[in-house]
Amino acid sequence: MQDWNPSIARITGFTEDQVIGRSLSMFYPEDAISEQRVLDRLHEADRTGWSLDEGWCVRADAGRYWGSCLIAPLHDRDDALTDEHAYSLIIRDVSDRREAAEALLKAVSCDHLTGLLNRRAFVEAVELEMQRWARFPRPLSLVMIDADHFKRINDQYGHAAGDAVLRHLAAGMTATFRAMDVLARFGGEEFVVLMPHTDVASAIQHAERLRSAIEALRIPLDDGGELRITASFGVAACRPDDDSLDAAIAGADECLYRAKRQGRNRVVCAAA
Ligand code: GH3
Ligand code: MG
Ligand code: MG
Repeated sequence: MQDWNPSIARITGFTEDQVIGRSLSMFYPEDAISEQRVLDRLHEADRTGWSLDEGWCVRADAGRYWGSCLIAPLHDRDDALTDEHAYSLIIRDVSDRREAAEALLKAVSCDHLTGLLNRRAFVEAVELEMQRWARFPRPLSLVMIDADHFKRINDQYGHAAGDAVLRHLAAGMTATFRAMDVLARFGGEEFVVLMPHTDVASAIQHAERLRSAIEALRIPLDDGGELRITASFGVAACRPDDDSLDAAIAGADECLYRAKRQGRNRVVCAAA
């Protein structure tokens, strides 16, 4: 860096002599940027007129803040590019915006009733997982879960009781599956779990554990009574020739349908 605007000292805490002559990577945590990435950003600014990104930045006292950094090639008075390829860097502390962005992300990706991912966020998460999978194939399993006779629960005990059942199901899922599994409410009273690095035998074990936990639930009702429920499960391995999530889901869905026909409250897998 060649020049220094004192106002940036207010944000970063660095003094002029700490900054002049250093690379702009000094404003980022060590693990957040490489010199190659700095060069890439300068080239991007050359090509498109500017380079903007948001991410963790670091102050002189090593404290972190969420910064927005704009890099633009400097022009001289006649609007020609300066000879020595100089750039301006504008850093803003946008930590407030990040919190707002995270709240927004949660609002658009989570189901309000259960707190699990919603269907759209699930599809996005799975597509990412499947891209990874294409590069490093490992067993990948899918579990579809559907509450049994749920319409009856609504009809008999009311919609609020139905909602409570859905929350209990979601809580049971969170307790049963692992942090790396992707849990979602797929629609109405239907849920889905993607289990990375998991073969179908292990997915069946998890599903069976959740099935019996749901069967053992006693959900308290407003009138002092208790409600008992069951759920049916379809388990399928994602196959390497499944070119889309839809193909994988169709396999688990078919098993779920068979579980219903065979009498509900059971786990059915593709090979069975
Ligand atoms: P099956 O055992 O074959 O799955 O029967 P089911 O009654 O569970 O299935 P069906 O698809 O006939 O009914 C699902 C019901 O779920 C109908 C719908 O009113 C109810 N439902 C969907 N979303 C919600 C919700 O958010 N809250 C409540 N309380 N009910 C919901
Ligand atoms: Mg149902
Ligand atoms: Mg259903």
